[in-house]
Amino acid sequence: MMAEPKRVCVLGAGIVGMTTAFMLKEKHAELDVTVIADKFEQDTLSDVAAGIFRPSTSFKGPTPEITKQWLVDAYHHYKAIQDSKEASEAGVQEVSGYVLSSKFPEVTKNQFLEGLLPVYRPADELELKICPGNWKYGAFFTTLVIESRYHLPWLRKKFEILGGKIVKKTIDSFNDVNDYDLVMNCTGFGAKKLCSDHDLVPIRGQVFKVKAPWVKMFFYGDYDTYIIPGIDYVTLGGCRQFDSFKQEVDKYDSASIWERCVELLPNLKSAEVIREVAGLRPHRTPVRVEREVIVTSGGKHLQVVHQYGHGGYGVTTAPGTAKYAVKLAEDVLSGQRSKVHAKL
Ligand SMILES: Cc1cc2nc3c(=O)[nH]c(=O)nc-3n(C[C@H](O)[C@H](O)[C@H](O)COP(=O)(O)OP(=O)(O)OC[C@H]3O[C@@H](n4cnc5c(N)ncnc54)[C@H](O)[C@@H]3O)c2cc1C
Repeated sequence: MMAEPKRVCVLGAGIVGMTTAFMLKEKHAELDVTVIADKFEQDTLSDVAAGIFRPSTSFKGPTPEITKQWLVDAYHHYKAIQDSKEASEAGVQEVSGYVLSSKFPEVTKNQFLEGLLPVYRPADELELKICPGNWKYGAFFTTLVIESRYHLPWLRKKFEILGGKIVKKTIDSFNDVNDYDLVMNCTGFGAKKLCSDHDLVPIRGQVFKVKAPWVKMFFYGDYDTYIIPGIDYVTLGGCRQFDSFKQEVDKYDSASIWERCVELLPNLKSAEVIREVAGLRPHRTPVRVEREVIVTSGGKHLQVVHQYGHGGYGVTTAPGTAKYAVKLAEDVLSGQRSKVHAKL
């Protein structure tokens, strides 16, 4: 008799969960993989993101070597999609632009991007005059934008073609997924409650999505001001409010974002506002990608691979952390023991 296929549940259908589910199923066709989530596509935080590939210099995994590897793997993963004929359906495109600062030379440096991107160089004197303002420091670089509005449905389609299953459901605790051989926990900010993780902190953000097809480059200014062109819309941001749980759009943030972006790029004045959205970035230092064995209320030793806490860089880093998480999943499924145990 043939052995039953191993049953894997991927909790979460944001960029982290869908990337993980697809990678796992693509590499291990023999696995029975189900994505369980209560929000999909346009209802996820991932849909709020502009999706620019630009990690903060403080982005942190378990070690500097692993963090760097995540970034390298993620970039090459997206670059291969951008170089393929699926690029437009997958919502991956190349974009160039400037990071500008009137006071802080350090904002123009990024140890992850220098050497990884095809172009990353200081802005010259003429370039510092492109935008109104007293810009003293700047960098020019070429990177990728991965738009979740296209990328999540594309991942879902590819996952389902491979035989992956999708279930819409809210999980109250790991007891609810007790019957799987392995659970990949990609619940983003939902992990705060699910894992009682006090290290997971919201960093609130808010953006405009506007129609301004003449904007072809990205621009970052001081104090969380950014303008990032996507496929259909340009994202105008932003703010970073630590430990704020407010999910609604805030009218004072709207006024501030609009004013700062129009100051940076005056021709945005005539842009048509399509929508405004706010979201809570799931911030954790370090990002948690590790195994745990959870003893559920029925006494089962449930194998879990956590993968959450990507903060403001989940779109950027998802393929890197997912590749690492898939390796941890392979260790679980091949019977290697985990060192970390916890009781529900
Ligand atoms: C304004 C703003 C701009 C941003 N811009 C960028 C950017 O340009 N580049 C970048 O890299 N990142 C950006 N980010 C960050 C990025 O959006 C996040 O890092 C990323 O979306 C996190 O992905 P995720 O899959 O972990 O979480 P989510 O997209 O939140 O997905 C979590 C999933 O888990 C499910 N879930 C959670 N709990 C449960 C439960 N109990 N039961 C069932 N399902 C559950 C949810 O339904 C959802 O499907 C931005 C964020 C904000 C707020």
